[in-house]
Amino acid sequence: TDLKKHIKKDKKKKRVATTSLAGCFGCHMSMLDIDLGLFDLVDIVEFDKSPLTDFKKFDERCDIGLIEGGCCNTDNIEVLRKFRKHCDILISVGECAIWGGVPAIRNTLPLEDCLKEAYLDSLTSEENETVIPNHEDIPKILDKVYCNHEVVKIDYHIPGCPPNANHIWNVVKNILFEEDYSITYPEFKYD
Ligand code: SF4
Repeated sequence: TDLKKHIKKDKKKKRVATTSLAGCFGCHMSMLDIDLGLFDLVDIVEFDKSPLTDFKKFDERCDIGLIEGGCCNTDNIEVLRKFRKHCDILISVGECAIWGGVPAIRNTLPLEDCLKEAYLDSLTSEENETVIPNHEDIPKILDKVYCNHEVVKIDYHIPGCPPNANHIWNVVKNILFEEDYSITYPEFKYD
């Protein structure tokens, strides 16, 4: 196949890590949406830390890190900084990673109001509920949702909600193997 020619050019497989921060996993579902193309993909790349492998820690340094979602809590910041440290190239995948997306709607309101509405005044809150969850094991919520390039240097952005699967992997192949590609209008989901 077209993908397999890369193996002959560059014997060593490229290493890819992925993570989901404040996202809905839709971008990861899209990554899997190349169906049987995944068999070709694993001929040229191998996955390191990722929900796709369930590896919790980095095994080796990675060529590319794909980040879904932005940063809404201290854990997101920590994971993003680890990705920056362990990946040569970091890519924000999807609108949540690029500008905050749906979670960033809360940026239009004071944090206290959001927490009150979510935990004390919501339809499912217990009557007379007075406690907003707060424990040392729970990551601390940030004052607002930050997009990834506000926290670390991001090398590339792939827009879309979610971006088209072929589009994601075409970008990755282009960066890793300098393979030319064109983007057609239907690959974007802005409307
Ligand atoms: Fe989900 Fe869309 Fe955000 Fe991707 S960009 S994590 S699909 S809401």
